[in-house]
Amino acid sequence: MRRGKYLLFLYNDKNILLFHLGMTGFFRIEKKYQFRKHDHLIFNFINKKLIFNDIRKFGFVKILNEREISECSHLKNLGPEPLSSKFCYNYFKKNLNRKTNIKNLLMNQSFVAGLGNIYCSEILFRSKVKPTRQLRLIKENEISKILDSVKKILFDSIKLGGTTIKNFVVSDEKIGYFKNKLMVYGRKGMNCFKCKNKIDKITQSGRSTFFCSRCQK
Ligand SMILES: [Zn+2]
Repeated sequence: MRRGKYLLFLYNDKNILLFHLGMTGFFRIEKKYQFRKHDHLIFNFINKKLIFNDIRKFGFVKILNEREISECSHLKNLGPEPLSSKFCYNYFKKNLNRKTNIKNLLMNQSFVAGLGNIYCSEILFRSKVKPTRQLRLIKENEISKILDSVKKILFDSIKLGGTTIKNFVVSDEKIGYFKNKLMVYGRKGMNCFKCKNKIDKITQSGRSTFFCSRCQK
């Protein structure tokens, strides 16, 4: 199962393997194991091998029992899943009293679990909300627009990721959804697809944000 950016493998003997794929971690499935650089773990199944590979080693794996997992700091403070019913209008509204901007809120894993940096730029472009906007200035109809965009972009991403990546569970967001579908991310200085204005790039909490200053207010 998955929770936020974590993968959990549940075993019958009540042990749980907790994976974080980091920036570059991924799994591949092979009938016969073929060595690749940066392979760290191999799971043997009857007809197949499941291999964990991570070039930059920002990922990790931990073995925990049921009690440890419920107290584990990685999972304990995670907010609701973005596609769950808990992530709704009332929940969103209640959290608008924080003193930050909308991009940082969406990136905050205790607010909503697992929304990546690329997704957040795309969600806010689709919602027509500038990433730097303070939360107290978010209007009620914009909450609905943002919620709608989160769902639309995640569903599109799941659909496209599923058709382009065979046998792979990839954590690198760039490979799955995007390339052709990105409206703003990675498009600094290029023309906005909607209004032809040049796309801006800024840094927020150390992460790149892309937006159109004409489409997003
Ligand atoms: Zn625009």
